[in-house]
Amino acid sequence: MKKTILTGIRPTGNLHIGHYSSAIRLMLDIQAKGDYDNFYVMIADTQALTDNAKNVDKVKNNVIQVAIDLLAAGLNADKCTIFIQSQVPELFEMSGYFLNLVTVARLKRNPTIKEEIKQRGFENTLPVGFLTYPVSQAADILAFNTTIVPAGDDQAPMVEQAREIAQSFNNSYKNVFILPKIQLPDAKILARLPGTDGKIKMSKSAGNSIYLCDDEAIVKQKIMNAYTDPNHIKVSDPGKVDGNVVFSYLDAFCKSEHFEKYLPEYKNLDELKDHYKRGGLGDVKVKLFLNNVMQELLSPIRIKRAQLENNIDEIYEMLFANGKKMQKIAAKKIQEMHDAMGINYEKFKN
Ligand code: ATP
Ligand code: MG
Repeated sequence: MKKTILTGIRPTGNLHIGHYSSAIRLMLDIQAKGDYDNFYVMIADTQALTDNAKNVDKVKNNVIQVAIDLLAAGLNADKCTIFIQSQVPELFEMSGYFLNLVTVARLKRNPTIKEEIKQRGFENTLPVGFLTYPVSQAADILAFNTTIVPAGDDQAPMVEQAREIAQSFNNSYKNVFILPKIQLPDAKILARLPGTDGKIKMSKSAGNSIYLCDDEAIVKQKIMNAYTDPNHIKVSDPGKVDGNVVFSYLDAFCKSEHFEKYLPEYKNLDELKDHYKRGGLGDVKVKLFLNNVMQELLSPIRIKRAQLENNIDEIYEMLFANGKKMQKIAAKKIQEMHDAMGINYEKFKN
């Protein structure tokens, strides 16, 4: 069986360090190893419209922003196929068939959807397209014979839904679909990075993000204002590291070399945490250290981004060409579905 990787990003804003900690890091790793047959990255504009129907410009403008962010972070357009979802209209047809294989009750049980409905205040204004986006996401995954979906843990229920749909289609008609698997980062913190507010996961739609494109001063400002332990008031107070966003980001991004370089009085993160828990270590010192760690990661991305901003026409051309390639793959899959379902009328045509 071919190894086909597919991952998706919604163009609802620029990419943030939460995307970096999960999906982007996994993608860079996959790209470096090169042990795959196909590697697809979808910019999910039609999915983004399910909660932005009146905000088409925001979605449209963020398509190129996301493409630039991905390339700036290190994705190589020669090694993966980055494309725009709306350029593969076959995905809509596929979702149409899939919608008949899923119950409303099943969709309402999806924990990610539940959380997102709450976050968006959709309790009484839920668009049907939003409730059913896991079904269209199943089409995105299944249309291209995906075997692996690298993602953060909020996507686990989506991949599970795609597997159920694939299974249900295969059982109802014929074996057409491969059952995909999610690939999560090894550490929990990487799979769901909290927002700077410490309340929920970092998310473009929640305004609690540190973006890959933020300039140096903004990154520092966001770090200096990040949520820590509200009871750690004086430097001498003992502090909590669990639920403390600054330590979560250090868990996700700092390596022992960073201590040698920026904070040599500590050997590693465990020593720093122990001191914070005991008392006697102030938030500012930890935050300034985190700032050094993050700037080291983000500054090359910022430089690459500035170069890519001069090549916008070329990037669009690459996306459009890839869309055509992906459309052919999806059209073939639709043909297989028609054959399996027996709704192929070819032989009655004259
Ligand atoms: P939106 O708020 O519009 O849904 P988002 O910030 O959740 O945006 P997505 O485009 O939905 O971003 O997700 C893209 C990828 O990044 C997915 O694989 C998702 O699991 C992952 N991801 C998103 N947020 C985080 C996070 N806070 N920590 C780790 N991974 C994340
Ligand atoms: Mg999301």
